[in-house]
Amino acid sequence: MDARSTRPPSVDALARTLSGLPHPLLVDAAREAIAVGAPQQAQALADARRRALHTGVVNATGVLLHTNLGRAPYGYVSVARPLTVEFDLETGERGSRQHPVGALLARLCGAEAAMVVNNNAAAVLLVVAALAAGRSVAVSRGESVEIGGSFRVPEVMDQSGATLVDVGTTNRTRLDDYQRAIDRGDVALVLKVHPSNYRIEGFVESCSVEELAGLDVPVAVDLGSGLVDAACPWLTGPPPAWLQTEPAARQTLAAGAGLVTFSGDKLFGGPQAGIICGRADLVERCAHHPLARAVRPGGLVLGAMQELCLTYLARDGASIPFWRLATVPVAELEQRARAVAEAIGPVPGAEPVPTQALCGAGSTPGMTIDSAGVAVPGDVLAALRRHDPPVIARVHEDRTVLDMRTVEPGDDRHVVSALRHVAHSHS
Ligand SMILES: *Cc1c(COP(=O)(O)O)cnc(C)c1O
Repeated sequence: MDARSTRPPSVDALARTLSGLPHPLLVDAAREAIAVGAPQQAQALADARRRALHTGVVNATGVLLHTNLGRAPYGYVSVARPLTVEFDLETGERGSRQHPVGALLARLCGAEAAMVVNNNAAAVLLVVAALAAGRSVAVSRGESVEIGGSFRVPEVMDQSGATLVDVGTTNRTRLDDYQRAIDRGDVALVLKVHPSNYRIEGFVESCSVEELAGLDVPVAVDLGSGLVDAACPWLTGPPPAWLQTEPAARQTLAAGAGLVTFSGDKLFGGPQAGIICGRADLVERCAHHPLARAVRPGGLVLGAMQELCLTYLARDGASIPFWRLATVPVAELEQRARAVAEAIGPVPGAEPVPTQALCGAGSTPGMTIDSAGVAVPGDVLAALRRHDPPVIARVHEDRTVLDMRTVEPGDDRHVVSALRHVAHSHS
């Protein structure tokens, strides 16, 4: 054997034979592969590094707002041209970052004013800090909850500099309880929190926003999931049954809330953002608080939110990916599931199946959406994830189920090719 071929290749020479990443990252992969005595593994290592980056996937989980997949699917193409983020075209002077989108959001929710921050946790933090720092916030014991992703009401209070005053009991809180808390101390705000992913049943009583609105401190309602209007005027049909238990921004404000807060990427169907919407004087105080600077959105989010608001106002729900996917008639999904099952060819045990999809992200807890999918035997999740684009599914009773509710029709061909690939690698 030639002595040269037993010598390890130079890192740079090996890196030049690799592809799929910028050169410095290929050099890293080459160096590591050589270090462990496996230069022939360098490309596999580079490929693994590539796959570990954020990647677009096909969501076949049946969970519309999948937290680990960034919640609502919302594609937004921005032009590489400067945006008037804080520029007034009329005067040529500095303009308002918040006003253009805020006005559209306010119009949508029937409010006086609105503003956008980076997420709903920031929205709640800002509201409490701006309206109640150094004073007290009254919260029902039944609403002092933790929402997924470690959003905990008592901890938000701590961070905001306000003092939490527990009101009522875990299962029952009445107007008297709030009134007593107000009479006793320095309550600046009543905060009502939608328990989202959590439900108390049985001997339960809570206070409606209408009742709370009669108190002489402002009421802020953290809605979380962000349904803007219970009437869903952007849909061609009536509001879907699975939305029944979901409080909506417009109706909550009409009932007398001073402010509502909600996420941009849950039922609102947009990018990650937090919305504060309600009385102009209260929104103004939030906008002028020093924290507002730390949680302000950039041009990408403002551009996306603005486009989404205009789509809602045009009552064009079919152009909002979340609403389009959520309201596809089940017969259409059944037909697509049958077509996928046929297209993968004869795979023993593969068949179209009825399924139940979910909103996800703590929205509409306990409610399911009729759907249809394709089931194949065994757990083939890992193989589906290795497909390009990766397909994310779930396992139910020893079968892998791909739910069509969360798949864009244009991606059905990827579902087919991923399933074909899996079937082949198993045979
Ligand atoms: C989801 C949720 C939050 C947190 O919102 P993020 O946008 O994830 O920061 C806060 N409160 C409620 C009630 C929620 O449902």
